Amino acid sequence: MGDPILVRTRQELLVHLRQLHERGERLALVPTMGFLHEGHLSLIREGSRRADRVAVTIFVNPTQFGANEDLDRYPRDLEGDLRKAAAAGAWLVYAPTDPAEVYPPGFQTWVQVEKLELGLCGGRRPGHFRGVATVVCKLIALFRPQLALFGQKDYQQLAVVRRMVRDLDLDAWTEIVGLPTVREADGLALSSRNAYLDPEERKRALSLSRALESAATRLRAGEREAAALVAAARAELEGQVDRIDYVELVDADSLEPVERVQGSTCLLIAAFVGATRLIDNRVLDLE
Ligand code: AMP
Repeated sequence: MGDPILVRTRQELLVHLRQLHERGERLALVPTMGFLHEGHLSLIREGSRRADRVAVTIFVNPTQFGANEDLDRYPRDLEGDLRKAAAAGAWLVYAPTDPAEVYPPGFQTWVQVEKLELGLCGGRRPGHFRGVATVVCKLIALFRPQLALFGQKDYQQLAVVRRMVRDLDLDAWTEIVGLPTVREADGLALSSRNAYLDPEERKRALSLSRALESAATRLRAGEREAAALVAAARAELEGQVDRIDYVELVDADSLEPVERVQGSTCLLIAAFVGATRLIDNRVLDLE
């Protein structure tokens, strides 16, 4: 496998995509914000198993960042990303030079997934999922991939994307594939934002995966009440994280809060360690 084709403009991208579609090849799309890690690479590898070609997008999407968030300091490393994407089997990397490649002058069309975007991260990051749904919709319309791969690490994002694709009939050509969260050996969920953590914060960040584990252990021991499971998770976070944004147990599909574990539920955490906002989640099922 050679180096991926690096494409910096929409116009150039359209040429490559036209040729690919004319050849009748199956395409997998992996949208990312770059600074690639093993989580992203697991999506690229699965894409290359399931399709003839994998396209990776690297775009720090400004419309999904709030005014006081980390858009300007989000980590970037295009050279490293290209090397990693090549090793994982990517065919093409689309890294637009300028947000105007994605949002042309006069842009005014938005995709909003009304209910799913309200709670959890959507409640704390107003407009975030509108930005995500819009850019993912545009990327699917642009690439027309047979499949698009996303990580369960961003559980609410995956739910929003699945809903959007179904509601807008994009599922006529694109299947959404969700893949498990890739973790460090000690349990920390991989994230580009882990680069912000100093060694002391990195240790405290482990409390998120421990909190999920603690709730899962309580569930296995017979606990069914959401309040008790959330309390078990919070107990691991207290004294470790600097601020808890939320710890919530929700229905795994609707993301509505639940009071008891019945069927499939998901426990989601967002918390600040230093200035870094981290998220993690775990599906809790009755065995
Ligand atoms: P990002 O670059 O953070 O926007 O992530 C791009 C894609 O990679 C999204 O579908 C994420 O859910 C996925 N992803 C991020 N971190 C992980 C991880 N630790 N394991 C699996 N997928 C991940």
